[in-house]
Amino acid sequence: MPDPVDGAPVNAFSVDVEDWYQVADFDAVIPFPDWDRYESRVERNTDAILALLAESGCHGTFFVLTWNAERHPAIVRRIAAAGHEVATHGYAHRIVYEQTREEFRDDVERAKKTLEDIIGDPVLGYRAPSFSFTRRSAWAPDVLLDLGFRYDSSVFPVRDSLYGMPDAERFPYVIRERDGRRLVEFPITTTAFLGRNLPLGGGAYLRVFPYRYLRWGMRRVNRRERQPAVVYIHPWEIDPGQPRMKTAGKRGFSSHYVNLGRTEAKLRRLLRDFRFAPMRAVLDLA
Ligand SMILES: [Zn+2]
Repeated sequence: MPDPVDGAPVNAFSVDVEDWYQVADFDAVIPFPDWDRYESRVERNTDAILALLAESGCHGTFFVLTWNAERHPAIVRRIAAAGHEVATHGYAHRIVYEQTREEFRDDVERAKKTLEDIIGDPVLGYRAPSFSFTRRSAWAPDVLLDLGFRYDSSVFPVRDSLYGMPDAERFPYVIRERDGRRLVEFPITTTAFLGRNLPLGGGAYLRVFPYRYLRWGMRRVNRRERQPAVVYIHPWEIDPGQPRMKTAGKRGFSSHYVNLGRTEAKLRRLLRDFRFAPMRAVLDLA
């Protein structure tokens, strides 16, 4: 999809709709069976992201953690009614490579069907919790193709202890093709610099690094490589009022609470400086 202003590609804006405690860093302190015991802030924070997007006139893709959709179907309907794409982040936010193929299939099938029942439209896209499509979950794209997905956005071409496939392709490509059906992968965006892939995509990288780093990387991707980028954000990342918990995270540290109060302003600049569309439109699937 060409940018009508300067010919640069239009980027994909994405939101992983999960609550402040539904993240891998909190697995040990707030396990899945306890989720209902914690204050839910996902609906109001998602509304805040919707307001930001409305202000900028941008549309994006919301990868909804479907456990939340069961409890807050109204927010899913508001996302769709505002012209954004509804996709899924799975049901229970379990790391893909820690599940069997059958467990993964059950989680994603339930997630997809629940969302389709709420919005009355097919769900085309999936994003794995913690980008956990790695060499250890090489079977996962086959499951997505079986379930009728058209695209995935779970591969992060970086080296990290929790996720990453440093040798994976950096821009959209067909990850599986069978019986005339294709599953397209939209990898999380990186900048190739001095022989390494630097993470760019959003989330903690957006909160921790200065805005000018993100702008530099996005411009390199759009102008030099002529490729679309994907940016991702979580609703809790613009919520400085969320409860404070002690967590060391799976890596031995956690960036969860860094710059929560500054992220909304960065997002506003990003939405002003670049053009965005839902992922299905960027991939020309709609
Ligand atoms: Zn997530």
